[in-house]
Amino acid sequence: MRLDTQPVYNEKDLEGQENSNMCIGPFKRMCHWGPLIAMGIIKAVTLATVSCLSQWWPPQGSWGGRLVSTSFMSCALLTLYCFLHAMCTGPGNLPPHWIPEKEEDKQYLQYCGTCEGYKAPRTHHCRKCGCCVMKMDHHCPWINNCVGHRNHASFTFFLLFAVLGCAQATGILSLSIYHAIHRTWYLYYGRGTEPMVYLSVWGLVVCMFVLGLAIGVVLAVGMLLYFQLRGILRNRTGIEDWILEKAIHRRNPEDTPFIYPYDLGRWNNFKQVMNMWCEPSGDGVVWSMREKCHQYTLTIEQLTQKAEKRERMREYQVVESYSGWWFPCTKGLGVCCHPPCTDEQRIKLTPGDVVAVTRWKRYWLYGECTHPAPSQSTSASRHRGWFPRRCAVQVVSGAENNTNTAANDTKPRREQENKKKR
Ligand SMILES: [Zn+2]
Ligand SMILES: [Zn+2]
Repeated sequence: MRLDTQPVYNEKDLEGQENSNMCIGPFKRMCHWGPLIAMGIIKAVTLATVSCLSQWWPPQGSWGGRLVSTSFMSCALLTLYCFLHAMCTGPGNLPPHWIPEKEEDKQYLQYCGTCEGYKAPRTHHCRKCGCCVMKMDHHCPWINNCVGHRNHASFTFFLLFAVLGCAQATGILSLSIYHAIHRTWYLYYGRGTEPMVYLSVWGLVVCMFVLGLAIGVVLAVGMLLYFQLRGILRNRTGIEDWILEKAIHRRNPEDTPFIYPYDLGRWNNFKQVMNMWCEPSGDGVVWSMREKCHQYTLTIEQLTQKAEKRERMREYQVVESYSGWWFPCTKGLGVCCHPPCTDEQRIKLTPGDVVAVTRWKRYWLYGECTHPAPSQSTSASRHRGWFPRRCAVQVVSGAENNTNTAANDTKPRREQENKKKR
C-alpha cells in the first residue's frame, strides 16, 4: 500500500472549481424560502431596532447613543455581508468526473455515481446541490447552499454577528417598549430626563413581534454557533463526527484505536478555518495531517464502514403500498407516533418492490429500492429513504420461496428480528 501526502488532484479539473458553484446563479439561490425568510428577519430586526433607537437613545444626542448605534449597525451590516458571502461563494465543489492524479489512489477513494467521479478526502455528495462538496459540513436551507471548505469562515461569522446583533436588538427593543408603555407615567411623574419613546398600538405589536424574533435568533443561532465553533476547534465537520463515532464504536477495546487524522491541535484547527478575510487555507483536496496518519486514513475508514454496511444489508419485499407521507395514519398509531427524527426522505413503495434495508427502527426501515431498478439519468432517481416497517417483509432465502415467505411473514419473525436488534 503506497501512502504519501503528495497532491492527488487533477489541477486541470480544479481550474473549473471557482465557477462550479455558479451552476445555480446567486439570484436563483436567493429565490428560495430559506434566504428570503433569513433576509426578512435581518431587515425586520434592523429597521425596528433603528427606529426605536432613534427615540430611546438618539445617536445625535450623545456619545453613548453614537456608540450604541455604531455597534448595532456594524453587526447588522456584517451579518448581511457574511450571509451573502456564504451564500454566493458557496462551499467549493469538486468538478464532475474528478479523478486523483495517481491511478493507484483510486482504491482509497469513494466513487460518486451522480458526478461520475471520485470523491476527494473530506468531500461528500450533496443531494440538494447535486454535486460533490469539498469538506462538506451540512446543507443549510437558510443560505440555500452547503457549508463547506470555502464558506465555512463566512458562515461562522454570519452566525456570530447575527447573535451579537440580535442580543443588542433584544436589549434596545425591550427598553424601548418599556419606555413606550410607561410614557404617560414619565410625563407626569418623571424627572424629565428619561427618554420619551412613542409607539402606536401597531408599532408596539410590531416591536414585540420583532423582539420575539430577536430572542429566537439569539437562542437558536447561538446554539448553532456553539456547535460550529466546537467543530472548528476539533477540525471535524458534522459528517466527520458521525464517521468518527462509528470508527470508535466498531472497534473492539483490544484493537488499535482510530486516530482522527485532521486534528492538529485547537489553535491550528482554528487558524485553518477562521481568519479576517474568510480565505480558506489549502485547496480543499489535500489536507494537513497528524503524525502517523496519511491523506487516506479517513477515506479508508469510510470504505470499510460502507463495506460493513453492505454486509448488514438485508433484502425486504414490499407487501403493502406506501405513499411516502411523513405521518401515514393508515399504517397504525405506532408508525405515526414514532417517525424517524431526521429530514431524510421517505420513499413511495408499491407491492412487489424490493428494498435493500440498511437501518432498522421499531416502526420504520431505511433502505434503497433495488427493484424496479432506478433509471441512471439523475441523482433524484436514486430511490432511497424511510418507510413503515409493516409495509415490507424480509426475504429469507431462495428466489422461488420469496413470495411465499414474504406473504407468510408474520409477527413471530418480526419479533425475532427485534430481539436480535436489541
Ligand atoms: Zn457527487
Ligand atoms: Zn448542498
